[in-house]
Amino acid sequence: MTEFEAKTLACPCCKHEFETQLVTGFRIGEKETDFCPRYLDGNPLPNFIHVCPKCGFVGFEADYRTPLDEDKIKRVNTLLAGFHWTEGQTLGGAERYRRAALIGIYSGKRSAVVADLYLQATWCSRMEGEPDDEEKGARRKAVKYFELALAAEEFSPDDLPVVHYLIGELSRRLGDDKKALKHFEKMDDLEKVDPWLIEWRDKQKALIT
Ligand SMILES: [Zn+2]
Repeated sequence: MTEFEAKTLACPCCKHEFETQLVTGFRIGEKETDFCPRYLDGNPLPNFIHVCPKCGFVGFEADYRTPLDEDKIKRVNTLLAGFHWTEGQTLGGAERYRRAALIGIYSGKRSAVVADLYLQATWCSRMEGEPDDEEKGARRKAVKYFELALAAEEFSPDDLPVVHYLIGELSRRLGDDKKALKHFEKMDDLEKVDPWLIEWRDKQKALIT
């Protein structure tokens, strides 16, 4: 069973305090080829993102513990104003991750973090049965921010096999075979790639050629 614990958070944008539920335990079965977990007791991902009921700020618990400077608060508030938040409104999981990604961009988070938020938005989108276009849009953005993160050398060498695999698989799912092959093949230039990842790569690559 997914387990929760009550916790009071203070919004870094509007300072409002509210009670939320932290996920303290969940069970995962297998993973899909884009690493989307198959949760055994329902999807806990939406509950990792907490929504300020007053202003619509969204973020992980850690984002609520990290103070934002005045400039960033201003930028994030401008973004939030565009969402036309109404107090107490509720958000689905995919929308939480998409908004968290946008807030990440406006508050200057690293591209790797933004990419990961968009990737998780695609997983929620699929689990929540949203129209394909929503999932595809977030997937395109995940690829874009993974590429920006690569260009900015945000990843450690240990992360590179998984990053190239993911860009390859996400591109394949988007129908961009050329980019998919480029990143799948890039994995051959890397040292220390786990055998299971090579196996997954070979399977997905075979779907293209
Ligand atoms: Zn707030």
